[in-house]
Amino acid sequence: MRFSKLKLNGFKSFVDPTDLTIADGLTGVVGPNGCGKSNLLEALRWVMGETRPKAMRGGGMEDVIFAGASSRPARNFAEVSLTIDNQDRLAPAAFNDQDQLEIIRRITRDVGSAFKANGKDTRARDVQMLFADASTGAHSPSLVRQGQIAELINAKPKARRRILEEAAGISGLYQRRHEAELKLKNTEQNLLRVDDVIEQLA
Ligand code: ATP
Repeated sequence: MRFSKLKLNGFKSFVDPTDLTIADGLTGVVGPNGCGKSNLLEALRWVMGETRPKAMRGGGMEDVIFAGASSRPARNFAEVSLTIDNQDRLAPAAFNDQDQLEIIRRITRDVGSAFKANGKDTRARDVQMLFADASTGAHSPSLVRQGQIAELINAKPKARRRILEEAAGISGLYQRRHEAELKLKNTEQNLLRVDDVIEQLA
């Protein structure tokens, strides 16, 4: 799967609709301090399902919406769209019926955020899984934040192992294991409750 287009609208400093074509090969983003280079990387992470406002350098998720400037009022929503070239048909089965896959995430003030995949409403979890399985997810080591190299050098072995696992493409399995463990815990609690009820009836 290859990213081919990124569109932003009302996301952080990108208040006006902005379309970026991601060409084959290496892409560099250059510009003066504060022009929005990191915001672009955050837009990528966000559309892939990032849920931690801190990873977006904000206090809450709505901080990704353009907050206004002296000459422009704040916006009410932010939207990021990522187009993926799927000619190699590497997307998971649920998303794999077309040559191009467009994932859109939109957040509206006081409403929250929602995802669409090729125009259809999609759960956040499915979008996160799509990218985690492709090793390009919101937590992917391919997206390097400022200060991340220093963090890596100082990281504990367990945290470093996570990075290797992400690079090996097994972080989707981790997520599934976590979900299975939560289900197991719920089931165990339900069984305990059933035992209590049976005891009361006996
Ligand atoms: P540097 O080279 O210094 O790291 P950069 O090019 O990576 O800078 P960013 O950190 O991406 O720049 O962008 C910072 C700019 O984005 C700041 O001007 C900040 O005010 C603006 N910004 C961030 N969030 C919002 C928001 N919600 N609304 C409006 N502007 C925002």
